[in-house]
Amino acid sequence: MITDKKTPYRLVSDRRLAELRSRENSLFQERTHKSRQLFQEAQEMLLNGVPMPWMGDWGTSHPIFVDHASGNRLTDIDGNEYIDFCLGDTGAMFGHSPEATAGAVSRQVRRGITTMMPSPDALEIGKELGKRFGLPLWQVAMTATEANRYVIRICRALTGRPKVLSMNESYHGSLDETLPHLGKDGKLELRSDFDMNPGVPKDSLSRIVEFNDLEALERELAHRDCACVLAEPVMTNCGMVLPQPGYHEKLRELCDKYETLLIIDETHTFSNGYGGYTAARGLKPDFITLGKSIAGGIPVSVYGFTREVGDRINAAFGRKGVSDPMGIGGTLSANAFALAAMRETLTRVATPEAFERMFAGQERLSDGLDAILARYNIPWSLTRSGARCELQFMPTLPKNGTEAKEHFDWELMYYTHLYLENRGILITPFHNMMLISPVTTDEDIDKLIQGWEDCLAELIQG
Ligand code: PMP
Repeated sequence: MITDKKTPYRLVSDRRLAELRSRENSLFQERTHKSRQLFQEAQEMLLNGVPMPWMGDWGTSHPIFVDHASGNRLTDIDGNEYIDFCLGDTGAMFGHSPEATAGAVSRQVRRGITTMMPSPDALEIGKELGKRFGLPLWQVAMTATEANRYVIRICRALTGRPKVLSMNESYHGSLDETLPHLGKDGKLELRSDFDMNPGVPKDSLSRIVEFNDLEALERELAHRDCACVLAEPVMTNCGMVLPQPGYHEKLRELCDKYETLLIIDETHTFSNGYGGYTAARGLKPDFITLGKSIAGGIPVSVYGFTREVGDRINAAFGRKGVSDPMGIGGTLSANAFALAAMRETLTRVATPEAFERMFAGQERLSDGLDAILARYNIPWSLTRSGARCELQFMPTLPKNGTEAKEHFDWELMYYTHLYLENRGILITPFHNMMLISPVTTDEDIDKLIQGWEDCLAELIQG
């Protein structure tokens, strides 16, 4: 448990919630013997029994170990099957192992994995990304964290400024600059209810403001020490927070006024459309970063930028005959294997038709969940955004990270997720995000709606 703070809209007494959770825990243990055994053995050689820290944070007594995943189904080593609405926190947004991606990967893996030279796929990818996102120049890295890291470096080099401005409670990967939070006194601090970040340097190169707060944004940019603003167009990592009307236009305007470069991180909001939120809403960033789903979950990320940025890089740092003006590394980046996976995913999987199906599914799910809230008079709300929706434990939608955080309730979240998991449904841990893939059927969605209804109907009795 990360915090014991609870929402005023919890609906159930602490005692009853603990009883229900204990019942569900027992059920979980009965269903997942083999996973529990592996988890116990893993303590000997993996820190806290998992190969990567977050894998142990699903709020269950032990993680489920996965046997295989395909489409929107995942099967654990005990043979339990799940309908997956987490989809690798968007890494598998288009379904697990899409046929076209898997085919490209298995062909390329026998034709050379990594060579330090470009393969022709790079051109197709550049064209495809430009067409979708509206930025002409692209580079490839391995993870979204890395893409953000490189772009921050470019922004610092071009502006000669040290700081990075980001939104309170945002997440852009393990970037020291964006991990601090706004404390109650407006000063930066390293720990919050959501994240513990020991080891982040105290001499902060960060400026943090609340999302949707244009006054604070202007006040901080006016210091003229920010190389860039790094923002998601919709906040997606602290519960979903939508931009208020006109916010993005003003953000662009203020970045221009204070000569700060604007990076839009589309890693999650790619689920808002064929060209992400940027194309769907006509945003005009200097840079776009994204990773995770663009190669069907194979580790690849990209960053795109304007011709003007490209010219500025070359004018400031270019050397005749050298194509690496910035000294940006990544030996395995843009390897042939990753490029083949990205090319097939972009051209054959993440198609306009796929997005249409995802959006229709999200509307079906959201309508169903809204109907439950109304039917049982539950004072919670639902954020809809592209192919994702999020149940908020509060009557109105949060307007910034602090509001989202204040109403978040880890106990309630863990219980409801465990209830669903025990009935064969997975949703994203850490918040109530549900993502629809192109292969998610109406029947799958109806099962999720029914799962929530059963869970909440029982909960409000207490
Ligand atoms: N940007 C955003 C918006 C993210 O949500 C994440 C991870 N959840 C990242 C960047 C970092 O992605 P990765 O962990 O794949 O590097």
